[in-house]
Amino acid sequence: MSDIRRVLVVGGGVGGLTAAATFARRGVEVVLIERRPAFDIPGVGLGQPANALRIYDSLGVLDEILGTGFSYDRMYLFDPNRRLIVEHKFLMGDRRVPAFCALSRLELHEILLGAVERAGVQVRLGMTVAQIHDEKDRVEVQFSNGQRDSFDLLVGFDGIRSTTRLHLVGTAFAPRLSGYGAWRVQAPRPESVRGMEFLQGIGSKTGAMPLSNDIMYLFHIRPEAPGADFAGQDQARLFKERLAPYGSYVAEIAASLNAGSDIVYSPIEPLMLPWPWFRGRVVIGGDAAHTFAPHLTQGAAMAAEDAFVLVREVLEADVPLEARLMRYSMKRYPRCAFVYTFSGQWLHDEQSVRSAEDLEVARAELTLNASARIGASDRILDEAI
Ligand SMILES: Cc1cc2nc3c(=O)[nH]c(=O)nc-3n(C[C@H](O)[C@H](O)[C@H](O)COP(=O)(O)OP(=O)(O)OC[C@H]3O[C@@H](n4cnc5c(N)ncnc54)[C@H](O)[C@@H]3O)c2cc1C
Repeated sequence: MSDIRRVLVVGGGVGGLTAAATFARRGVEVVLIERRPAFDIPGVGLGQPANALRIYDSLGVLDEILGTGFSYDRMYLFDPNRRLIVEHKFLMGDRRVPAFCALSRLELHEILLGAVERAGVQVRLGMTVAQIHDEKDRVEVQFSNGQRDSFDLLVGFDGIRSTTRLHLVGTAFAPRLSGYGAWRVQAPRPESVRGMEFLQGIGSKTGAMPLSNDIMYLFHIRPEAPGADFAGQDQARLFKERLAPYGSYVAEIAASLNAGSDIVYSPIEPLMLPWPWFRGRVVIGGDAAHTFAPHLTQGAAMAAEDAFVLVREVLEADVPLEARLMRYSMKRYPRCAFVYTFSGQWLHDEQSVRSAEDLEVARAELTLNASARIGASDRILDEAI
């Protein structure tokens, strides 16, 4: 019988929901707290690669996800006018899981929340942790409403601004503003958009991800002033200006933007926390431990993998808890560091295209190497974890 019988999960994003459902399905009593008063997830869409889909399969929700989202097995690199440079067939997936399935964030969260509720997790909304006292044999918690409780393990999947990370390492390791930002908006899907697309521009990149038969989301990545958030500003006008150099459906979407458009802007703030990702009986995963440039669409996928591996290692009660949490950290670090490095390099390379001459050089290089490069990454990410 495991020595971990009662777990507190902090944060109800993809990582927290996956951890809570996976622990509870293994017979652990789980309390999940979420700071927001409702699961009204902001954001647009998420591409979920085969490695994430396998974890959702273990929670019994794969069919629901595939029935809701848009599955695809290719990505395309284009020039700013959507002239094809490279078509890449992903080397991921198998007979059961496609290479990718993308869906709206809200729909993915609702599906995972269903798994959490069916597994018997106690979900408490509008609540945070006020104090953590790590005793040797348990962790004592005081919640923001003044209530106290005691757990065998506290699992922090509380995102990029994690207070659980602050508890572990203070401000020694924090996300760093990269000077780049991502703009996103949902739009009708043209029939021709059948996979992930990147349009390499000069000084920026634009792309699309299909989310269903009817909709896709458009994204745009470019240098932005560190600290800019554009909230309350004329986002539609600013986004339109930024999309002006692009043709094809991008130009049509740009023309349709107005004050009512649901535009989301996020700075890109990479973080790779050195392991170990725990102290005593408090452990973190997901964006609390690592955030990446979005190019491999692996952020939520790595959060789900962290959750899955954490539960497996923690409930394998063969060695003391500290050794199991160390094993979790050591297993997760190299894989997440790979995504961090590969995505960061991709961001850097694409944003280094600053002139028409650079674009021609990039076109030639991408034609020659991009598919092999992405294929090598696919093979790594498709490996068993
Ligand atoms: C532009 C962009 C595009 C992306 N596209 C993709 C993609 O296509 N595919 C993909 O896999 N990933 C993608 N990502 C990354 C992905 O969004 C994140 O990696 C993922 O959401 C992380 O999940 P998480 O559960 O660790 O954290 P989060 O999703 O941030 O969840 C953390 C939760 O904890 C809650 N919380 C925070 N603090 C507390 C507290 N103190 N107490 C209680 N609750 C708290 C928050 O309210 C939140 O609900 C993208 C990211 C960006 C910026």
